[in-house]
Amino acid sequence: MTRPEETDSQIRSAALAYLASPWHVLAFAPAMERTFRADTLAGRLRRYRSFGLVGILIYMAYTGVDWFALHDIFPSIWPWRLLGMPLITGSVIALSFWRRFQPWCDLGMVGATTLGTLALVVFFSLSLTPASNHYYGGVLLCGVYLMFVLRTGFVPTAWGCGFILAGFTLALEGLQGVDPPTRLVIAAVTASTLLLGLAGLYQLERDERRSYALALLRRMDGAALAQANARLAQLSAVDGLTGLLNRRAFETRLHEVWEAAATTGGEVGLLFIDVDEFKAFNDFYGHQAGDEVLRQVARLLEAHTRATADIAARYGGEEFLVLMPGCSRHAALERAERLRAGIEAACLEHAASPVQGCVTVSIGLATQHPASGVDPAALVRAADEALYAAKAAGRNRVMMPSA
Ligand code: GH3
Ligand code: MG
Ligand code: MG
Repeated sequence: MTRPEETDSQIRSAALAYLASPWHVLAFAPAMERTFRADTLAGRLRRYRSFGLVGILIYMAYTGVDWFALHDIFPSIWPWRLLGMPLITGSVIALSFWRRFQPWCDLGMVGATTLGTLALVVFFSLSLTPASNHYYGGVLLCGVYLMFVLRTGFVPTAWGCGFILAGFTLALEGLQGVDPPTRLVIAAVTASTLLLGLAGLYQLERDERRSYALALLRRMDGAALAQANARLAQLSAVDGLTGLLNRRAFETRLHEVWEAAATTGGEVGLLFIDVDEFKAFNDFYGHQAGDEVLRQVARLLEAHTRATADIAARYGGEEFLVLMPGCSRHAALERAERLRAGIEAACLEHAASPVQGCVTVSIGLATQHPASGVDPAALVRAADEALYAAKAAGRNRVMMPSA
């Protein structure tokens, strides 16, 4: 389920309001009601289609009972049993496959079942056979089927039951040859069964809506939590000043790249980069300006690694690393030199540098063919030693251990 954020918050407050309210009106606020109907539609349609067909079959099977019990009116009622009712309910089921009709399916099933039940009321009132007086049992059966098997929405079902009770009362009034006590029993049993059934249906729908609201909140909370966790993981991997990977995240990537290369037999390169005379820069321009230089160097590193699989990170202070998966010694040297020259060419002013008037970096380079189980710290150490040599040799240069 994907919804715009604004609707999400509307739905969230609607769910909370519904759960907090002591009154259980069987409707959510409009935005949530739409979601509820959409989310429960498939289940309702499945129920209406399968049990609708079962209902049609049972209704038709009662033709046999009519034949025995209502022989006086049988010739005029069998077409309803075998054709009329199956056709109407069958049409609703068929229409349920049409998207535009689906929101009306509830009403359709209530309407068809109400008609089927009212037909039994008509049989009950027209037939003069003694058995016909027991046909009110069929009305109860239909009520139970509607409320607890089809489990249509409470409101349309209550209307349907209202029509059935009204028709039933009229039929009972005009009934011939039934004494008043029997009439009373039939009326009381039918009315109370339908009303109690409605009370049960009300509770079912109320509980379904409560569970839906709870599940929705849980799902939304879970999604928000996952989002917050992802954001937290991202933040904990990033250096706050430069936005590059931090040392911890770099070490994780280094191990991954190392193990992958150990299985494929590839080579891994590493650049250890240190800004030259940075203490002098800070002393001359101030710490804030120093921070800005670190950010600029980081942007240059990003720009140089963008086209490759290389991974740039801030090691700490004015030291950076570039990990080069699958990079040969020759290619690594070329890239390191391009990077050094790029930073020099950017010429970030550094009047206090004895190297030259711009910010420069020294780079120590190391490459290795990793072996599984060997600590990649050896690669970092080798690059660090090469960096030390680059500093000693006068800075603003790339050095690597001799092959
Ligand atoms: P070298 O050429 O030998 O690398 O000299 P250096 O001055 O760059 O090296 P040194 O290790 O003496 O000084 C590093 C300086 O980097 C000292 C410290 O104040 C500065 N530094 C470390 N982290 C930061 C930071 O986050 N922001 C700023 N502005 N300065 C930092
Ligand atoms: Mg340093
Ligand atoms: Mg330095």
